[in-house]
Amino acid sequence: MNKKGFVYYNLVGLKVLFRLQRKSMCLYCILQLIHGLSYVAQVFFLQRFYDSITAYDSATEQYSVVINLIFMGLSFLLAQIMNGVANSYGQILNEALQKGLHGILYQRISLMDSMEFEHPQKLDMINKAVNGSQTIFWVSTALLDIVFFYFSYFGMMSCYLFSMQPLLAVSVILVFVPNVISYFIHMISFRKLENRIAPMRRKTESFLGYMTGKEYVKETRHLGLYHFFCERYENTLRKINELNLKLQYKKSFIDFIVCTMTVIFYGGIVFMLYRYAVINQITPGAFAAVLLSLKQFYGFMYELIEERFAWASQNVISIENYLKCIEGYHNEKESCHYEKDMNIVLKNVCFTYPSGSKYALDHVNLTIPYGQTIALVGENGSGKSTLCSVIEGLYAPCQGDIVFNISGAKETSVKGKKRIGISAVFQKFVQYRMSIKDNITISDMGKNTSDKGIEKICNNVDIHLDKDGIGAMLGREFDGRELSGGQWQRIAIARGIYRDCNLMIMDEPTSAIDPLEESKLFEKIHEYSGDKTAIIVTHRMALAKLADRVLVMKNGKIVQDGTHEQLLQEEGEYKKLYSMQMKWYMESNVV
Ligand code: ADP
Ligand code: MG
Repeated sequence: MNKKGFVYYNLVGLKVLFRLQRKSMCLYCILQLIHGLSYVAQVFFLQRFYDSITAYDSATEQYSVVINLIFMGLSFLLAQIMNGVANSYGQILNEALQKGLHGILYQRISLMDSMEFEHPQKLDMINKAVNGSQTIFWVSTALLDIVFFYFSYFGMMSCYLFSMQPLLAVSVILVFVPNVISYFIHMISFRKLENRIAPMRRKTESFLGYMTGKEYVKETRHLGLYHFFCERYENTLRKINELNLKLQYKKSFIDFIVCTMTVIFYGGIVFMLYRYAVINQITPGAFAAVLLSLKQFYGFMYELIEERFAWASQNVISIENYLKCIEGYHNEKESCHYEKDMNIVLKNVCFTYPSGSKYALDHVNLTIPYGQTIALVGENGSGKSTLCSVIEGLYAPCQGDIVFNISGAKETSVKGKKRIGISAVFQKFVQYRMSIKDNITISDMGKNTSDKGIEKICNNVDIHLDKDGIGAMLGREFDGRELSGGQWQRIAIARGIYRDCNLMIMDEPTSAIDPLEESKLFEKIHEYSGDKTAIIVTHRMALAKLADRVLVMKNGKIVQDGTHEQLLQEEGEYKKLYSMQMKWYMESNVV
């Protein structure tokens, strides 16, 4: 299970459900309580009926037999009706709550900045939360069912048996102890095994992907790697199967012992009942009622442990995902606007990834005046994307501060606040399986632009429109056009350009586009950024020439800062990178 545990997430989940439908949830609890108690009533009236028959020897008792028969019939009827009512009410309530649960989630999503959708991790979280909203009711109500249905049934049954013969009550409950213990042993072993085989399973999935995945299959065939991956796939799968089989043997062995013990104990209880009846310590009616209800008693025990509890504890993770996504729904993050004429100031900013040990940004000090176009360069892993994400507000610095200010006016720290007025194209942008128009306008849903305006952007960044125009569907999944990496990147650039902003951040926007087209596109981006501030990450030094200022990063630090011409005069990283690339381009006749 996870860190906070089963009960915690169920309680928080229930809080959300009760907040949405307090009365209906209370009614659900009452129905489950009556449902549980109706089975106890069944046993009780069964005993009364048998007792009245055995004592039957006069006309008055005939009356009592009929009354008890009616009560017994009513209690059986009640149990059947309650079974149907409580279960259907659960289904109806779930349907009713779905709307509210989705409502909270979508409200939360609508409060997110459109740019957050560019982040694959965020999308992944939203996806899991949507799934979570569909199971949250069943998982959380499992706790209610346990308390109101099962506990009320077992509690009352124990009292009933205890009032008859204390030893009987204790023995009946003790029979189930080996079952409970074996359930927890299995659960722990399966969890341990799952942790062990999860990485193996991921391996088999990636091997399978290399063999059959759309994006890999060409290269795998070209390199003749099919058999290589196939062998690795089979070997890993064999190891998983061996581990699974070993555990299954262990489980079967434990189950066999538990079953044998249960049968012996069960026999013991029947014998005990028989003895009590013979020596008149319990009535014949009690003997018959308890004997008949034992099957139901153990049936419910089994259902509670092996089905309800097991299912709920496996699925509690989905509640966690849902709750994580709606967290902050009531206290929305404070936001700040990057407005015209504002400077961006980074003061000693440090950032470390949760999984990383070293600084991805190491005490960065930087002032970007409004309207500057900045080219951010540096080798792979030097921290360019991280710097963009920190300025955009996706990651908060772990040390230092970020400030937006207008020269001469009071400065405001924007650390931890949501940013408005920024457009960004991330290095790992999302390829939406939607129309070209939707792909572009999704970055600024509130904006009203004519189709002509969108077509103009497409024209400018060389997105070729066919007969369907901007309505053309993209991606093969929905029978749309499949695009090349470069074409998808143009769509992402168009999306970045479309959004109204004062700062444009583009992280390697032209990495998949060939060098000859690249400078043309770069000039277009430059044109669109106009008098706004722009930060463009590029690994092509020739393009940095177009920027007002070049920043060179290395190991999370800004090591050079100046214009292209200035930096070429200095002996340093920029000159080294520039001459290396120029040499390569000359040799390969690209420029
Ligand atoms: P660049 O964009 O210049 O190639 P990044 O900003 O992506 O560099 O990465 C800077 C450093 O942070 C690198 O050492 C990289 O390995 C690390 N890094 C980047 N993203 C993550 C991440 N999601 N988790 C952990 N480490 C990361
Ligand atoms: Mg990067």
